[in-house]
Amino acid sequence: IEQRLHEANRQPSITLDGVAVPIRANIEKVDELQLVKDNCAEGVGLFRSEFLYLHNNHIPSEQEQYMAYKAAAESMGGDSVTIRTLDLGGDKPMAGNPDLFSVEANPFLGFRAIRFCLEHVDLFKDQLRAILRASAHGKVLLMYPMISGAGELERANAILDECRAELRRNGMPFDEDMQVGTMIEIPSAAATADILARKSDFFSIGTNDLIQYTLAIDRGNDRIAHLYEPTHPAILRVIHNVVAEAHKQKRKVSVCGEMASDPVYAALLLGLGVDELSMTPPLIASVKYLVRAMKMSDARALAGKALKMESPVEIYAMCEQFANERM
Ligand code: PEP
Ligand code: MG
Repeated sequence: IEQRLHEANRQPSITLDGVAVPIRANIEKVDELQLVKDNCAEGVGLFRSEFLYLHNNHIPSEQEQYMAYKAAAESMGGDSVTIRTLDLGGDKPMAGNPDLFSVEANPFLGFRAIRFCLEHVDLFKDQLRAILRASAHGKVLLMYPMISGAGELERANAILDECRAELRRNGMPFDEDMQVGTMIEIPSAAATADILARKSDFFSIGTNDLIQYTLAIDRGNDRIAHLYEPTHPAILRVIHNVVAEAHKQKRKVSVCGEMASDPVYAALLLGLGVDELSMTPPLIASVKYLVRAMKMSDARALAGKALKMESPVEIYAMCEQFANERM
């Protein structure tokens, strides 16, 4: 079976009825770029940039970040690299910086990600300039994590515009057309997807957090892990709505949470209309195998049926059967 997956992985990611499904890689560090290529990813769909900060517990300079993002952009050739701006806090606390992060009763509902960046504008601008400068060396996209509504997105984009102006003044090259996307991982963002789509070039759904916040289940709490159900009807409806609103405005939707990396869920996501998937590199082969073994029309029928069902367990069983019959 390993051999079978390995061979399929060298082939294009396209369904039996001819729909191309880009499969990209999630990475945390530049030294994973070889793994991205070895596993035949079409570029990087999620570069978790906070690991530059968590490594050695150190705040990287603009130049340090630029070197890392540039390396990623160059090594992918023409394939895209989607860099997510800093997502510290929650399950990724930065220890030893009490001046930046204080102890909170509810870190997942606390001072995290874009909330932190919008209060530490100097740190945020260092990162935004580094990403913009890297965009001169390959196909770079930028996305913001943990956006809860249009206000945050507008403020982040205004700061990004200041960075563009600064670089122009200093004669530093960057891609004027760099796409800027929004991560959908908070229910309020999902519910306002129509508004956010107007202000975003693309969406990337972070199902790890979207499920956590929609179902009120701490993603890291083993005591309630059995209640963390990606096939809960609420999750299906939320994703379906986000995709519908994005597509109305011709925006593409990717899923970069762990749901994307499991063939049982991948078919369901594609059937719900998701355009692209991004996952940890070693899991690409099995998802690509399924993509190549299924028809998109069947995945759509699967999702249509799932949307009418009530039981997460039954939806899971149906999706599992769909994958098993094809793998
Ligand atoms: C997610 O929430 O699904 C996601 C991709 O982001 P992270 O796991 O880094 O929070
Ligand atoms: Mg997240």
